[in-house]
Amino acid sequence: MHGTRLDPWFDAYAERAHNLRASEIRALFSVVSRPEVVSLAGGMPNLKDLPLERLAESAKSLILNHGAQALQYGSGQGWEPLREQICEIMTYDHIVGADPDLVVVTTGSQQALDLMAELFIDTGDVVLAESPSYVGALGCFRARQADVVHVDMDEDGLIPSALEETIGRLKKQGRRIKFLYTIPNFQNPAGVTLSEERRPVIAAICEREHVLILEDNPYGLLGFDRDPLPALYSYAPETVVYLGSVSKMFAPGMRIGWALAPHAIRDKLILASEAAILSPTMFGQMFLSQYLADYDWYGQAKSFRSMYRQRRDAMLSALEEFMPDCTWTKPEGGFYTWVTLPEGLDAKAMLPRAVRALVAYVSGTAFYYDGRGANHMRLSFCYPTPEDIREGVRRLSGVVNAEKELVEMFGTGSIPAGAGDPEHLPGPSTVPAPDTL
Ligand code: PMP
Repeated sequence: MHGTRLDPWFDAYAERAHNLRASEIRALFSVVSRPEVVSLAGGMPNLKDLPLERLAESAKSLILNHGAQALQYGSGQGWEPLREQICEIMTYDHIVGADPDLVVVTTGSQQALDLMAELFIDTGDVVLAESPSYVGALGCFRARQADVVHVDMDEDGLIPSALEETIGRLKKQGRRIKFLYTIPNFQNPAGVTLSEERRPVIAAICEREHVLILEDNPYGLLGFDRDPLPALYSYAPETVVYLGSVSKMFAPGMRIGWALAPHAIRDKLILASEAAILSPTMFGQMFLSQYLADYDWYGQAKSFRSMYRQRRDAMLSALEEFMPDCTWTKPEGGFYTWVTLPEGLDAKAMLPRAVRALVAYVSGTAFYYDGRGANHMRLSFCYPTPEDIREGVRRLSGVVNAEKELVEMFGTGSIPAGAGDPEHLPGPSTVPAPDTL
């Protein structure tokens, strides 16, 4: 007999396809999307301030005046005028004078992550990542059967001595480290930012140890109180592949991101991208280029910042008010805060209970490769209104308190959903519901 009762093609998949697993929250997704649930789970940008009328005009004029080009295939590397504008955007990250010829336009930075995994990871290779790290990147690495080793962070981001120690230990064991994946600004999920002092130190360690850095920076322009710190790329351009995206500073539906890479890696990225998608969206690139040229895009990013700052403030004051037994990070930008629960509480096991109380979050386990993180949760403040954020945290505090009582009385809280059922063994997830990224 071939396959299984559920999938007759089970035996036909490549081995790596068996590494794709559904997200912890996917099962709850239909419930979580209901309007009565306050979702602190989603990472969806809030687009309510976009100038839709003007964008509609712009799309119309693009089709009328340049339709034949905009609806045609384009270059695999991406449209040159847009690559020049991308270099201007990167000056805000202190990347000055970047060569547009080193930029590769991708379908969101997610595709750039996937291309990097495709180009660099053989089965069993080590990828270093922050502890915790972005679930969508861990999924790409897992699909290539990498072994992700987490490196400790504190409130100033990745800890240089921990990085040095980890590299030294792995090299001694003869392991092959392919790159360090890092999100220096307003990290997803922890909300912390790599300090200015640590940036040249991290860059120098990786340069010295010949470890490539994959610097992922989708949130860089969303700092609440100050302009961006220098990108790692600005310290070590030959050691860093820098990823940017317009998803958070403009709109994720554009599906446009980019990689800025050393020359030889750029060549490989173009070839791998052509194999995957032939060319990035020409219409999207020309539309974006028009937006960047004709509209005060930086002003728009600043107005996003102040909207998110208000929501961050609502989240932090609600946590102060309702969750005195927890601790949390204090993000200076971006979408997320990382909450540590009282000892003994398991955020993953508690989630069904939270959803019944009409509030949702993502359990910390989603952001680790090795099953850690149960004592944490990621709360996002980007999408709900400040009032809903407060109400969501209030509901959550009821769930946490009830769970704490259970732990105090019986030494254990809620039992993980499906525990004991091999079909539902809890494990790290790799294919998150898009809303949770
Ligand atoms: N990196 C990080 C850290 C993210 O949080 C996300 C999306 N949430 C991405 C990459 C992918 O973004 P996109 O493909 O929309 O550019």
